[in-house]
Amino acid sequence: MSVHPEDTEKPDRGKVTINQAECKGCGLCVETCPLDLLHLSTSLNHYGYRPAEYSGHGCSSCSLCFYVCPEPGAITVYQLEAVAYTGRTHG
Ligand code: SF4
Ligand code: SF4
Repeated sequence: MSVHPEDTEKPDRGKVTINQAECKGCGLCVETCPLDLLHLSTSLNHYGYRPAEYSGHGCSSCSLCFYVCPEPGAITVYQLEAVAYTGRTHG
């Protein structure tokens, strides 16, 4: 049985979902993702656009794709990393 590289790496810090019906296929998010995790679909949505798709692994939750997207509700970014607070004191 083979082991995929993703299985041995740290858990993703983020996850992205794209609402295929809201996406206009402008490609801004594809060009903007610093990790090259987004691409345009080969199939068309209801309005005849090729919507963006997430590769499924590696998102850092930087949210750059969310901020460049001109369509409200097309992209949702989830932060998956648990944040540990250490009870830092002042003074
Ligand atoms: S949140 Fe950042 S890393 Fe994740 S898909 Fe969007 S641009 Fe790429
Ligand atoms: S920036 Fe928004 S509208 Fe443009 S391709 Fe990406 S998800 Fe679709």
